[in-house]
Amino acid sequence: MARRTVSIVPHTHWDREWYSPFQTFRLRLVDLLDDLLPSLDADPAYAHFMLDGQMAVVDDYLAVRPQAEATLRRLAASGRVSAGPWYILMDEFLVSGETTIRNLQRGLDRAASFGGAMDVGYLPDMFGHVAQMPQLLQQFGFEHAVVWRGVPAAVDRSAFWWSAPDGSTVRAEYLPQGYGNGARLPDDAKALVAAVADFESEWDSFLVGPILWMNGTDHLMPQPWLGRVVAEANDLQDDYELVVRPLAEHLALASIDALPSWTGELRSGARANLLMGVTSNRVDVRAAAARAERALEQLAEPLAALYQPAERWPGALLDEAWLDLVRNSAHDSICACSVDEVCDAVLHRFAEATQIGEGLATRALDALAATLSVAGPIVVNPSSRARSGLVELILPGNDPIEGTQVLNVRPPDRVMADLDLTEMAPVVIRELKHNDRITRLALESVETGALLWSAERDANGELLSPGARAELDALTESTTGQVRIRITSPPTQLVVTRVEDVPGFGWQAWNGPAPTVAPVTAHDGALTNGLVRLEFHEHGTWSINGQRGFGRIVHGGDVGDTYNWCPPDGDTEIDTTTRSEVAIVESGPMRGRARITSTHRWPERTGGEMVDTQVVTTLELRAGEPIVRVETSWTNRTRDQRVRVHHPLPAPALGSRAECVFAVVERGLEAEGGPTELGIPTFPSKRFVQAGGLTVVHDGVHEYELVDIRDAHAHEIAITLARCTGLLSQMPMTTRPLPAGPITPMEGSQLQKPIVATYALHIGNADPYALVDDVLVPLQVVRKTSGRAPTDDTAVPTEGQMLSVDGAPVSALRRVAGQLELRVFNPSNDTTTVTVEGRRGWLVDLRGRPVEHFDEQFTLAPWRIATAVLHD
Ligand SMILES: [Zn+2]
Repeated sequence: MARRTVSIVPHTHWDREWYSPFQTFRLRLVDLLDDLLPSLDADPAYAHFMLDGQMAVVDDYLAVRPQAEATLRRLAASGRVSAGPWYILMDEFLVSGETTIRNLQRGLDRAASFGGAMDVGYLPDMFGHVAQMPQLLQQFGFEHAVVWRGVPAAVDRSAFWWSAPDGSTVRAEYLPQGYGNGARLPDDAKALVAAVADFESEWDSFLVGPILWMNGTDHLMPQPWLGRVVAEANDLQDDYELVVRPLAEHLALASIDALPSWTGELRSGARANLLMGVTSNRVDVRAAAARAERALEQLAEPLAALYQPAERWPGALLDEAWLDLVRNSAHDSICACSVDEVCDAVLHRFAEATQIGEGLATRALDALAATLSVAGPIVVNPSSRARSGLVELILPGNDPIEGTQVLNVRPPDRVMADLDLTEMAPVVIRELKHNDRITRLALESVETGALLWSAERDANGELLSPGARAELDALTESTTGQVRIRITSPPTQLVVTRVEDVPGFGWQAWNGPAPTVAPVTAHDGALTNGLVRLEFHEHGTWSINGQRGFGRIVHGGDVGDTYNWCPPDGDTEIDTTTRSEVAIVESGPMRGRARITSTHRWPERTGGEMVDTQVVTTLELRAGEPIVRVETSWTNRTRDQRVRVHHPLPAPALGSRAECVFAVVERGLEAEGGPTELGIPTFPSKRFVQAGGLTVVHDGVHEYELVDIRDAHAHEIAITLARCTGLLSQMPMTTRPLPAGPITPMEGSQLQKPIVATYALHIGNADPYALVDDVLVPLQVVRKTSGRAPTDDTAVPTEGQMLSVDGAPVSALRRVAGQLELRVFNPSNDTTTVTVEGRRGWLVDLRGRPVEHFDEQFTLAPWRIATAVLHD
């Protein structure tokens, strides 16, 4: 009988940061590679080592061992070491599609300088897999994926054909026992053969083709006896032929006969723990991720690409910001199932990326303003679709302007400060020099009100003439006591007003208010704009268009951990308030706001005494918008809890549609669990989720669950606002009997700080991607501060469009090698035509390789992602 091949793939799984911070794990990484590289050189029988499919391992090592670079290059080029393809082994659900693409692009680029990347979509430890991963892998040129968590019970072989919604299919090698089935290779050939035989008999008909023996696990040091023991094992039996080889070589031999098929996301707990509660564990990390991704993807990149010349493209800064995002996308980092030091580092990286992104966006807007000869405010639309909506503007004068709503007025005369005379002079001098809006500045005695000194602009526009300066100095020397600084300047008002039809990727000079569409009014304690009517009820809830029960806040206990929610035995949910009041704080016509302040009595911790928490929810309606914007916040002083907000569904629902990477995924009312993890239908949603006619648009990935199931239909959606736990991993728990990491107490995951959730509700059929733009990517306002004055009014354009893209949502617009690169996707079952007006170029794959020329238009099949390089 022929011997069955056993492919032994020596590797290590290197979580860059997790139950220890990065620097602590890195010390161990340095030890590992310091040992490994000489062993590989000295022992040809130690034929291969896989560096966990991620280039971060290489860079983190070389940062402190630069002298090892030549050795690593030589070993990689000769095939003894495989590196990449990823830069980091990310989580797929909690980061954007762009972050995933940039991660793989960065990994491939970096691996290229080590002789090329491992040709395998290696996904060993991700907490489930997104539906579009097969398409992403294919567009990067991969034919193979390797997966573990998330594979459903319906897959009954160690390999399957895995398809994305567009039909892209890869062969997925399923690791039935994870990436460490051969972790600790015994220094004993008989024991090795016995272990392989045990594995084979346990999995039996499940295994197709050669056996894959993954020799490594989390942070495990290599076993130097590998080559010798494998040779001895081959000599002492005839059942198996053991070969130490790269993973790609194993997959090239692997069976493709009679494999089962699966289309879409892999989120089952049937065969391995999915760890389905990570979505809700640290809402602060989710919010920081969303802000940073938005700053780069939807502000900095498109605005710099559109409004700055190619030679000013801020590539180096963007690269630094993206490196922060890619590092944070590591599964233990973004999933926040890590010690507090790691979460602190993650938040810091997101903050820096956000600072770069938002700063570059401001630079790009200023660059636009500098090129325009239009006076006054300019409204800029950072999205690809034409947009209408509200903007806040500072306008001259303090007379009410039709079509605007005044937020505050700066009067012509106001007191700037009361100061001791000795401290006053530098303040006055600085104001007079730098504040060119001031027309007059006067000093009065606080005691008597007498005018002590004043200065007015002279004919040359100067406020601080030499004579006035001398008077001021004399006053300082001759008088003591408190002075009042009173300044006079032209009055201004901060208003909110609506603009109409600002072109996509374009701008519009503000030219007076548009006629008000669907103005907001407040009557009898209700807010309405004719499209949506809000009324307020008991326990802090409200109704939309007569349907009651929105905004019910539900508190339950959580004795789980950062990985999984777990209610305490006999838990009682609390959904009432002890007090709740409503105040209309803005009453239209452009914007109406109601503030609900409610007091909730929640246990301080599991079994602890009841304490009051004050929750403030602000509801906002805007003129012309069928959207209710919601912000709920509280200062969190309670622990071991899950706090959700429930909203009724306008119609009973059999399932949900949630945004995921480059797709909208449909999910039913149940989740598949398994022997070691209870299936709980709490799912992640990227920016929106829809059910029963309700769309919830939310800032940051959120966890949702369809609840109130009656007659097999859901009648409510619950959105998790916060889930607070005190352990990295717990055990045993009724929802997950085995630990998922060390039992480490943590304070950060109790979220003892202000919690803010921002989302919006829409009842109707609006395009959810348009809602996302309106709610999460506001129109920008830039004011021209200097530059040319208008010379000829007829020649001054009041509107412009830098790029017209129609037919599909835009995921990215940036410059690559000087040229504009545009990425769109088709989140629907219908073929669409994408029109890029007046532009031609090449469609490319995700490695940038040309696929097809296009001239102004191309078709995009259902669920396809397309990247276009624009040549002119
Ligand atoms: Zn891991």
